[in-house]
Amino acid sequence: MDPSCTSKVRVIVRVRPFISQEIPSKNGNPTSCISVLNPDSDCRDEVTVHLQDPDTSRNECYQLDSFFGQEDNNLSSIFEREVNPLIPGMFRGRNATVFAYGATGSGKTYTMQATETWLMLQGTNLLPGLMPLAMSTILSICQRTGSRADISYYEVYMERCYDLLEVGAKEIVIQDDKDGQVHLKGLSRVPVNSMSEFQEVFSRGVQRRKTAHTGINDVSSRSHGVLVIGVSMPWGGDSGNVVSGKLNLIDLAGNEDNRRTCNEGIRLLESSKINQSLFALSNVIYALNNKEPRVPYRDSKLTRILQDSLGGASCALMVACLNPGEYQESVRTVSLAARSR
Ligand code: ADP
Ligand code: MG
Repeated sequence: MDPSCTSKVRVIVRVRPFISQEIPSKNGNPTSCISVLNPDSDCRDEVTVHLQDPDTSRNECYQLDSFFGQEDNNLSSIFEREVNPLIPGMFRGRNATVFAYGATGSGKTYTMQATETWLMLQGTNLLPGLMPLAMSTILSICQRTGSRADISYYEVYMERCYDLLEVGAKEIVIQDDKDGQVHLKGLSRVPVNSMSEFQEVFSRGVQRRKTAHTGINDVSSRSHGVLVIGVSMPWGGDSGNVVSGKLNLIDLAGNEDNRRTCNEGIRLLESSKINQSLFALSNVIYALNNKEPRVPYRDSKLTRILQDSLGGASCALMVACLNPGEYQESVRTVSLAARSR
């Protein structure tokens, strides 16, 4: 994909399997309300996703770029086919972004991260998510090419940014510089030379994300978590010149429906901020994909920060995550994803 990579954002669907609590002991597997209509199609770039409500037999269809079902795993399916192709471009100075989008419980964190202590998963049947898989591939290219890698990890909560690699998850200010570039002033960048270093630094950040906002439960599913892997590669012999690129891997906040979850007070405020920023993101992707003259980056913090990694020579991928037992919620996710395309 890379050589022809344009500013088009790929939008794909991932349906997670039913998990054990959702499987009644007697009746075997519940029926998934999501299927793909043209699974064997050779066309890599268009699938029709069919959603059906088992209770009312209401149904809807949407067109997306690719579909991953319950049997597809993080590594051999999604990473190899969708994310790995974005990596070589980083070493030629291109930025890329991968989002996991969907309701709480739909598999976003599993897809991106699997778990913060993924190295300890060896020997279990859990697979590392896209963040450690990307890090591992990037580190091996760094070794071959004499390049260096570093990471930043921050969260965007209620339109504010917090540095998760800094003690106390310090708030970071977004600044515009003179040439219109956006900077996160003072955001930590920690050099990473091995997977065990990554594991150590990243898992501390994940822990901080869980505890940063005392008094508010489980903010991690209501904030956007952004891991940035930066690379810099020397070129031109001893000239000291480097080419640098970065990959943003984002576990987006859950796109909950306020009417269904009866949110009040801080929750309502939180989720209206979340929905605003997800809507802004979808509008940016739509504008890029449809070559609109104006891309509304300024409509949210997240899209402002990502301005240099969406559009232009950058590549992006949106993974719409779905719970196979949730019809209404899946329609919400897929319709917004399909609308961005
Ligand atoms: P989210 O981050 O969207 O709220 P999670 O990633 O926490 O959702 O997933 C919800 C539950 O489903 C977790 O128990 C997770 O382990 C499980 N799960 C999600 N995706 C998969 C998958 N592809 N295979 C197996 N289990 C999964
Ligand atoms: Mg999550």
